[in-house]
Amino acid sequence: MKIIRTVKEMKIYCRKLHEDKKTIGFVPTMGYLHDGHVSLMNEARKHADCLIISSFVNPLQFGPDEDYSSYPRDEAKDVETAEKHGAEALFIPPVAEMYPSTLGTKVSVIEGTDVLCGESRPGHFDGVATVVLKLFEIIKPDIAVFGMKDAQQTAILKRMVEDFNLDVEIVPAPIVREADGLALSSRNVNLTPAERAEAPALYRILGEAKKLIEISELTAGEETEQWVINQLQQTLSAEIDYVQMLTFPELKPPASAEAEWIIAAAVQYQNTRLIDNITKS
Ligand code: AMP
Repeated sequence: MKIIRTVKEMKIYCRKLHEDKKTIGFVPTMGYLHDGHVSLMNEARKHADCLIISSFVNPLQFGPDEDYSSYPRDEAKDVETAEKHGAEALFIPPVAEMYPSTLGTKVSVIEGTDVLCGESRPGHFDGVATVVLKLFEIIKPDIAVFGMKDAQQTAILKRMVEDFNLDVEIVPAPIVREADGLALSSRNVNLTPAERAEAPALYRILGEAKKLIEISELTAGEETEQWVINQLQQTLSAEIDYVQMLTFPELKPPASAEAEWIIAAAVQYQNTRLIDNITKS
């Protein structure tokens, strides 16, 4: 597997693949690779000849009070995981390589940012869209896989691809969980043992809400949101950032039980923010 650290080398490498008529499947990540990332790699492999992973903790998508500096990093582990799962190349650019000077241009996401993480993390999705657009330009992938763990991100990037007529297909991949239901996340390593022990309740409660909607014990929208908030408050020591039920992928309230919907939640522990969601199907 090739480890590439510069934009120039990455462009040359990908251009050659295209000249050789190889299709590229791309999995962008912030590193600290886990089995959720691996499932994305496996999905990408199904759609393309070559697999390229990027590992880049993108400062542009972190707010000033967020966990950019404490975000877990382990380059050796990323190299090992990417190699083990058959990546042709791992792109690990230093920050100065992606952002050599202050940006004069960035992507402004104008739909789907007034809810969920967009509401509580102003500018976050502009940072995500900007780095993903840059990565798409460098790598020119045929397909790129994004996890439903970050459902809002996947929906927003799909829209960006449509809006900018980008020649890449966004492939969504399901959430991978620990045996106890906790969604895998690089951030889980920052949970205290007590937080880790209670955290699976987040998914359990979302699952219970889904069942109650299916048997019409809860109506879609505010009633469900309030029920989930009550349950979370009784169960978790974390602060609840949001619980929202929306149509998916439009991310519009109010959802009806008939439409495709998502119930998404974010909770904040002392040092760790967890997000999770459940969808109708
Ligand atoms: P991250 O490194 O956390 O920025 O995530 C990189 C990609 O992996 C994103 O598309 C995420 O949605 C996806 N991802 C992260 N955790 C999971 C998970 N538990 N299951 C599936 N995909 C995931």
